[in-house]
Amino acid sequence: MPRVNYIAPTTVDDAVKALAAANGLAKVLSGGTDLLVQMKSGRLKPELIVDTKKIPGLIGVREEGGYTVIGAATPGATLSYNEQLEHTFPGIIEGLDLIGSTQIQGRASLAGNLCNASPAADSVPAMIAAKAIAVIAGPSGKREAPVEAICVGPGRTSLQKGEFIVEFKIPKPKSRQCDAYLRFIPRTEMDIAVVGCGVNVTLDASGTCTDARVVLGAVAPTTVLVDDAAKALIGHKLDDATLSTRRGGAGGVQADQRQARHDRISHQGRRRSGTADHGHRLRTRHGARLKSRESCWYEQAPRYDGHQRRARRISLRSAADDARRAPGRVEPDRHQGRLRFG
Ligand SMILES: Cc1cc2nc3c(=O)[nH]c(=O)nc-3n(C[C@H](O)[C@H](O)[C@H](O)COP(=O)(O)OP(=O)(O)OC[C@H]3O[C@@H](n4cnc5c(N)ncnc54)[C@H](O)[C@@H]3O)c2cc1C
Repeated sequence: MPRVNYIAPTTVDDAVKALAAANGLAKVLSGGTDLLVQMKSGRLKPELIVDTKKIPGLIGVREEGGYTVIGAATPGATLSYNEQLEHTFPGIIEGLDLIGSTQIQGRASLAGNLCNASPAADSVPAMIAAKAIAVIAGPSGKREAPVEAICVGPGRTSLQKGEFIVEFKIPKPKSRQCDAYLRFIPRTEMDIAVVGCGVNVTLDASGTCTDARVVLGAVAPTTVLVDDAAKALIGHKLDDATLSTRRGGAGGVQADQRQARHDRISHQGRRRSGTADHGHRLRTRHGARLKSRESCWYEQAPRYDGHQRRARRISLRSAADDARRAPGRVEPDRHQGRLRFG
């Protein structure tokens, strides 16, 4: 039977030394909700596991300068139940809230979600939209990198041997700046996003958008920052009139279906997701067909998983659910997340 060494260092230096000195595959363990599943399936056979949770600062949230600093291994549930964070970064928290189930969220961390490097990772689009920075420890000391620079392809990161993420620094939003995350999933519960969208916008006193970042997950090998979609919003009021004229504007996103192929995302689901309109359009080989379909989901009430309804004390069956089940509906609603502007 293959032998796996497990260590739980109590300092960043010890963790870096162990990771750098390993001969075979060395993996960092945060929550283990990806790593342990991959080990059990035989996909990953690490020689060394370095559990970082005993290192001070790896779990926790603090304010520092103009940043909210989140320890890399902090469980999603700890962050979701932090009212201050929920108010400040509703999009990032929404992304975390959509990961798996209550049990998974009790372990799953931002660093694990990012470094597992799935194109469909739910917390990553809103992190990138918020200009989050990863603080990385390694053999040459600490360095910082924007979150969008970490994933370089499915299952691959830009981290070098001996390096691991210690914490994330997220700039505190200015006044009238807020974020949101929405995703589309093939099933109605616990599924992987076919498309996820993180948006961070800043408005001026008159309600005109002065800055925007729009980030798509699951449509390409890595998360995509869609500058054209952001440009289409800047300089305009984000009202219904503007958003309806911005649909597909400014170039939209050219999603290469071959590149975007991902073992958990079906072509059919991706095609359906093209009807989801976040103020941009996904152009596919079936573009003409997408244009002819009615896009309506974002005008309806958001859908929550059962555990999210319980956590938010929302009734398990609402008028919106009844509307979704009404005869004549083309397909079940599988969009999750909500837009909250605090
Ligand atoms: C039932 C189930 C449902 C799920 N649903 C979703 C979902 O809806 N959406 C979604 O996005 N994900 C989902 N996931 C995947 C998983 O829960 C998330 O990706 C989670 O955030 C991973 O975090 P973790 O702390 O458990 O990572 P781990 O499993 O500990 O690590 C994941 C990877 O990141 C690396 N890593 C961890 N920490 C660091 C660090 N500090 N520095 C460098 N590398 C690091 C590890 O070495 C490993 O390669 C699901 C998983 C399960 C089992």
